[in-house]
Amino acid sequence: MATDDVSKHAVSCPCGKSTVTFTATSPDHAYVRESQTHHDAEIDCVECREKYVPYAEPFSNSVPALVLREQVAAKAAAEQRYWAYWNEIKASPEADRLRPRIAQQVDAAKSKAEAHRVLQSMKLTYDSYGTYAKRPYGGEAAAKGAGGADLVRIGSGVLGGEDQPYFQNASVQLEELNKAWRDSPIEPVVLQPARQLIRK
Ligand SMILES: [Zn+2]
Repeated sequence: MATDDVSKHAVSCPCGKSTVTFTATSPDHAYVRESQTHHDAEIDCVECREKYVPYAEPFSNSVPALVLREQVAAKAAAEQRYWAYWNEIKASPEADRLRPRIAQQVDAAKSKAEAHRVLQSMKLTYDSYGTYAKRPYGGEAAAKGAGGADLVRIGSGVLGGEDQPYFQNASVQLEELNKAWRDSPIEPVVLQPARQLIRK
């Protein structure tokens, strides 16, 4: 059975008293692709560990960077505020009034193809017609599946009826929360050049 190829290198930690150890683990065979390499970082310094945390883009295979814990916490809080408002929109009485109107649009379609076109025009599906035709669904399911961002987009138009102002305002607020989440900075700390190279 093949073992993993593990390579480590240490650099100075941000305060300079200790180190940060980066580990790259790859399957030990001749044709390793970069995507098969798993990267880890460990902060060996107690003080720096309180302040910083290794951070890699979610689902990426990249080498983690060191970032301030408070930045990670602030971004997570901004994300939470976005989803809280997104859920609030879904649970609003305005959304309860909008869903039957969405359902009606879909159910008024005379054919599966037309229903698919209606769903596409409301951006409630990105499936091809072929995919939709295999498992078609009616207006109620489509309306129920609409997320907070879908509801503000659709409700801001004519389907919003008397609730249009609510949805238009909610749309602006949701976009602001999304921007605050996206713009919340995660800045990698620049580490000192490698001090030693250990290879096992
Ligand atoms: Zn340190």
